[in-house]
Amino acid sequence: MTQKKTCDLCGGCEFERIATSDRKQQPLDTDVCRTCGLVRHAQIPTDDELAEFYGSQYRQDYHGETTPSDRRVMRAWKNGRRIYQQLWPYLKQGDRILEIGAGIGCNVKAFEVEGWESCGIEPHEGFCEYGSQVLRSPLQRQSLEDLPQEPIADVILLVHVIEHFKSPRQALERIRGLLRPGGRLYIECPNLAAPFAPRGKLFHYAHIHNFTPQTLRLLAESCGYRAHTLFSAAADPNLQMLVEADTVSPRGEQPTMDAGGCDETLRALNRFNWLTYHARWSYAAPRIAKLATYLYEHLTARRFVRELVHECRRSPAPPSASRAA
Ligand SMILES: [Zn+2]
Repeated sequence: MTQKKTCDLCGGCEFERIATSDRKQQPLDTDVCRTCGLVRHAQIPTDDELAEFYGSQYRQDYHGETTPSDRRVMRAWKNGRRIYQQLWPYLKQGDRILEIGAGIGCNVKAFEVEGWESCGIEPHEGFCEYGSQVLRSPLQRQSLEDLPQEPIADVILLVHVIEHFKSPRQALERIRGLLRPGGRLYIECPNLAAPFAPRGKLFHYAHIHNFTPQTLRLLAESCGYRAHTLFSAAADPNLQMLVEADTVSPRGEQPTMDAGGCDETLRALNRFNWLTYHARWSYAAPRIAKLATYLYEHLTARRFVRELVHECRRSPAPPSASRAA
């Protein structure tokens, strides 16, 4: 039986096709919800299709590696430090940090070395093993579904994960149940409204849903959170949003939309075409800076990671109590 296609954010069932290929010019149909503007795959992959994709192609197509390179580790560590610096003003004494989809565990390790009780869950065997053994990150090989439905954390990190869920709504509702009273959720994901690239270069099979600041906020609000802080600027390629568990229970229903959401998403997507995108200095300057960063990383990554591993081993090894559950 074919399931009726409904929008995960608003429950709407009218969609408009906005792309037919992914960023590598492979066929991939992408739709926008005519009501709220949430962008998603036209066909949500089945569990079997996803398992096959992640089991085979993903690591090669997406990361190009099965164990992380020095450069990847260096970047992940710097990101972890950046996230910690962003969030520490919002931490309260005794907060317990949990990361869902923690990768090699640099984010949770960055919190741990600053003295916070933290742990991460990561389903990928290789990344989990590397993180636990080499970086001594407090990691467990688990998925969100494996965690018990009880409040176990004060701050949850969801970094480049929400776009991979078949139903981000279900995931956010589940995460809401893991937060203690006053708990906060930090979400980071690609920003569809940023001046990225033409539509033909935007979409990826692994990113089932694509968010603008508006659609992410509305989804969070309808799952029992209220917006707290948006760290990212409008042009940032990544959305960085802190939301707080609402004191009232999740409404458990889709929000009422004013139907302007779709127009807003389309406006954001149409802001740049290939020529205007590449011609502007605000594109060229970050590209030049990025190339310089690549070169710098290439030259320094090995030494950086050697010193990082040394530092990580000096910090306390993850105790068995670091189990997420
Ligand atoms: Zn919708």
